[in-house]
Amino acid sequence: MIEMEEVFKKYPNGVVAANGISVSIKQGEFVYVVGPSGAGKSTFIKMMYREEVPTKGTIMINGLNLAKLKPSKVPHLRRQIGVVFQDFKLLQTLTVYENVAFAMEVIEEHPDDIKKRVMEVLNLVGLKHKARMLPSELSGGEQQRVSIARSIVNNPKVVIADEPTGNLDPDTSWEIMKIFEEINRSGTTVVMATHNRDIVNSIKHRVIAIESGMITRDEQRGDYGYES
Ligand code: ADP
Ligand code: ADP
Repeated sequence: MIEMEEVFKKYPNGVVAANGISVSIKQGEFVYVVGPSGAGKSTFIKMMYREEVPTKGTIMINGLNLAKLKPSKVPHLRRQIGVVFQDFKLLQTLTVYENVAFAMEVIEEHPDDIKKRVMEVLNLVGLKHKARMLPSELSGGEQQRVSIARSIVNNPKVVIADEPTGNLDPDTSWEIMKIFEEINRSGTTVVMATHNRDIVNSIKHRVIAIESGMITRDEQRGDYGYES
């Protein structure tokens, strides 16, 4: 479902953040992306949801060629991909409910469907009872749950997460991982950049290591493999 072939990314400042990446990720896989800071993990992930465009090479997501995607088709792509960030990126003036509903409103879903589905995903992440609250009234872990609810509300085939537990304490991080596991068990592909060695070594999945913009390791049920 995700196919990268000889992908290069050179930023305007001359930094080569992807240096010939080829990889294939199947529907339903759970993939950790590991590697030192500055290795190119975020760039790898950003190219998957077309936040960054490769300088060279092809990226196919569900049969869509991202390099050839017209700007008018980007919303169509984004519907198929849920994205979760380290810093949550919630809209601070909207309630929990509204933050999640917003993702459905922009694609003009029916109001009845929106209400039903939003409460369904808030229930899944255990936050139905906080639907009326503002992000500022929630803990970091709860805010991340909201952002996960938002990422899956449109039933994407893949959820991409860039260090989703990077701002959370260990206990909260495990709780968040349980939700990603549940999402993956329902058949959704999960691609997650992480520095969390304990999680990678305990909840075993495919591990792709990136260093200097290249894939240096790709193992099923791999280890984190770095000292910290
Ligand atoms: P990681 O996520 O592994 O820390 P990144 O993909 O963020 O790595 O960065 C890879 C390299 O690309 C780094 O050298 C970084 O400084 C550089 N880089 C990332 N984003 C940009 C950008 N927008 N402009 C210029 N250089 C960038
Ligand atoms: P249930 O019937 O499952 O208890 P409710 O419809 O009572 O669910 O809604 C539960 C929570 O979701 C309430 O706190 C409510 O404020 C919030 N909520 C429901 N619909 C909306 C909406 N359209 N806009 C904002 N908040 C909503």
